[in-house]
This record gives sequence, C-alpha cells and structure tokens, in this order.
Amino acid sequence: MQGVSAQQSELSASERREALKEVFAQARGCVRCPELAATRKTVVFGAGNADAELMFVGEAPGASEDEQGVPFVGAAGKLLEKLLGEIGTARSEVFICNVLKCHPPGNRDPLPLEIENCQGYLHRQVELIQPTVICTLGNFSTKLLRGDQTGITRLHGQPEVLTLGRRAVRLYPIFHPAAALYTPRMLETLREDFTRLPELLALGAPEQPDSAEMPEVVPEAASEAAQIAVEEQGSEIDQLGLF
Ligand code: URA
Repeated sequence: MQGVSAQQSELSASERREALKEVFAQARGCVRCPELAATRKTVVFGAGNADAELMFVGEAPGASEDEQGVPFVGAAGKLLEKLLGEIGTARSEVFICNVLKCHPPGNRDPLPLEIENCQGYLHRQVELIQPTVICTLGNFSTKLLRGDQTGITRLHGQPEVLTLGRRAVRLYPIFHPAAALYTPRMLETLREDFTRLPELLALGAPEQPDSAEMPEVVPEAASEAAQIAVEEQGSEIDQLGLF
C-alpha cells in the first residue's frame, strides 16, 4: 500500500473512496491480532458516507455487528440513529466505525496491543474520508485519538482542534450510547452534547497544517496488512456497498 503522500488531500472524493475500499480489502485479511482473527466472523470496517463531514468512532464491534459486518446495528446503534435523527441527520450521511475492527470475544474490552495493531486503519480512514468533525464515543476512541488518558466524563461536550496524521479535525468527545442506554442522566447529557453538533459542523474544517512541513505517514498496521490482503484477495468483497 502507498504511504500518505502530500497529494493525498488533493484526491477527488471518488478517488478517496476507491482508496478506502483498498484499505478495507486489506483489513479483511488482517491477522495482526491472532485471537481476534481466529474468533471473528467478519471484519467490521465501518459504514456510511465515505466523504462524510461527520465521523463517529466507537469502541469495538459487538456480537451483532460481528454477524452483520456493520457497526452499531444493536441497541446502542438504534439510539445513535435516533439522536442523529433529532438533529436532522440520517445515518447514511455520516461515517461510523470503531477503534477495533474485530469483535473481542465475550465482549471484553479491547487490549492495548489490539488497539495499537488496529490504529493504522482508523488513521487511514480519517486521511481518506477527511471529516470535519470526529465524534469519539466513550473512553476508548477519545483516549486513542487524543493520545491522552483523560476520561470521557471530564471531556464530553468540549470540542478541540486536533491534528491526526496530515489532517486537522474538530474532535468532539461524547458519551458512548451504550452507556446512556440504561442511565437516564447520561442520556440527557448525550442528547445535550448532540444538539451542539450542527453548530460545530457549521464552523467548517479547521485550518489545515502545511503539508510540506508534515512527515510522510505510513501507518504500520495498514502497510503490513497489505501484504496479507494481497494474498487473500481471491474472495469477493461484498461489503463495499457499505460506503
Ligand atoms: N459498540 C461499539 O462501540 N461499536 C459497535 O459497533 C457496537 C457497539
């Protein structure tokens, strides 16, 4: 797989979508986490608009997501869709993915090594989708993208501009919808934080860093996985309609 070149940001939306499909093809053959590779049914890469202004990043696929190959299809996903509807946005307009692309057995938390192994895919997704706002859902994605251990309870509802790879984005941490499902006060807070999303989106993309000064980024996970995927590419990619 190619590294992220200075010209990457100048690719058209359809070129970026094609590149995203390639990353998906690579992820489908990934075996960097032997336990996850052995137990998963599908690689849940992400779904939605490959040119979305708004991207959501959750934790890891659950059992239903593993079955269906689509993120957030269970109760938490229904709540996410409802909250999106309340701000006049359809699920198909945004892009939804997770820190981990594979379901951890028994719904356990992602392990630090799994997060490290998988993060190259998320960074490629950000580079190629070029969202204006990334909404991190809960602790795992917030801590990963901020590179800091500060928890969601302190950070939720506070947008900040962050440079990820070569892209500056507006990061907006909010509670994970699964946590809000059974805690009415948390749901109220999540709903309030959601109502601020339209004004955040209306600000548009933050000023972008000068690409000439940025180092070339070659996400290790993705580039290594490319080798594996090339070997496995006999199988038809049937999830590409997801974005
Ligand atoms: N929770 C997540 O974090 N991701 C999913 O895809 C589903 C539930």
